[in-house]
Amino acid sequence: MIKLGIDFDNTLITYDFLFKKAALEKSLIPINFPESKSLIRNYLREKGQEKLFTILQGEVYGSRIFEASQSEGMYDSLSKAKKNGIELFIISHKTKTPYEGPKYNLHNAASSWLEKNLFFEKSGINIPRKNVYFEVTKTKKIKRIESLGCTHFIDDLPEILDMINPKIKKILYNPKLNYLKKNDYINMKNWSELLKIID
Ligand SMILES: [Mg+2]
Repeated sequence: MIKLGIDFDNTLITYDFLFKKAALEKSLIPINFPESKSLIRNYLREKGQEKLFTILQGEVYGSRIFEASQSEGMYDSLSKAKKNGIELFIISHKTKTPYEGPKYNLHNAASSWLEKNLFFEKSGINIPRKNVYFEVTKTKKIKRIESLGCTHFIDDLPEILDMINPKIKKILYNPKLNYLKKNDYINMKNWSELLKIID
């Protein structure tokens, strides 16, 4: 049986547009800056304003999460996968509150987002709530992926995939082709490729 584990941030949910919007509201970036979380982070880092980026991220992942969008094609592909009998798990590495700024509960924010986006509805993706895990360290995330017996795992970060047992099929969600192809994982540019990849 296929047990598909899925990362949350920047895999199921896309924040690029929201990062730009929130950064512009605080006049942290120029108006023509690209919609990209990583470019905004690098830009602020270079200016010695990484702390401001951390505060911004807390806001985007916390109080403003409902302004973020589903990754394109994700909902349809996961609904089909579930209907085809694939067991789905969401395993995310997230601190309980941001390192800087207001102490939003980031786990509750993410759970509410999943709920609003019909992940738990019978008529929606229909994932049991007990299949959703927010772990506070990367090591705990990796342990969870392995102890649940995931056969496949999707993440947007190669550094996470590199930590997982090689027996698990690793899928890199790489919509902007930020990372070069590596042989240790399957590249997924678009969620519509999912069923072909795991079949
Ligand atoms: Mg991620």
